[in-house]
Amino acid sequence: MQFTKLRLVGFKSFVDPTELLIHRGLTGVVGPNGCGKSNLLEALRWVMGENRPTAMRGTGMEDVIFAGAASRPARNYAEVTLTVDNSDRLAPPAFNQTDKLEVVRRITRDAGSAYKANGAEARARDVQMLFADASTGSHSPALVRQGQISELINAKPRARRRILEEAAGISGLYQRRHEAELK
Ligand code: ATP
Ligand code: MG
Repeated sequence: MQFTKLRLVGFKSFVDPTELLIHRGLTGVVGPNGCGKSNLLEALRWVMGENRPTAMRGTGMEDVIFAGAASRPARNYAEVTLTVDNSDRLAPPAFNQTDKLEVVRRITRDAGSAYKANGAEARARDVQMLFADASTGSHSPALVRQGQISELINAKPRARRRILEEAAGISGLYQRRHEAELK
């Protein structure tokens, strides 16, 4: 599975529809402080199912919706679309019908989040699992937040183990075990 495109509408500072093409190899995002580089990474985490407002540097999930600026009114929803090249057909069975997979997450004020996969409604859990199994996921060690290196150095053993499990690609199993324990 390979990410090919990230599209944002009304997500944080990206009020107008914005598309980022992700080619194979290295993609660099450069720009002055506050231009939205970190917001792009947060959009990627968010569409993969991140549910902790703190991971989005907010206090509530609706904080990802464009909050307005001097010249622009606030928006009522935020939407992020992640396009994935699934031509290696490594997605889990529920998502593995097509070479191109499009996952959309949308949050509407006072109405919460909804997901779609290739146009059909999808459950948050299935989207999280889709990416967790592909060793990406919103908690992937491949996504390193600003300030995270010092957090890693100071991490407690249990937190460090989670990081190793993500790296080993078994966090989908971890998530299922956690769910089984809750039942
Ligand atoms: P740095 O180089 O300092 O790390 P950056 O390019 O990573 O900066 P971001 O932190 O991604 O910048 O963007 C911060 C900007 O996003 C701020 O201007 C902030 O006001 C804006 N922003 C964050 N959330 C929202 C929101 N909900 N609505 C509108 N703007 C927002
Ligand atoms: Mg930043």
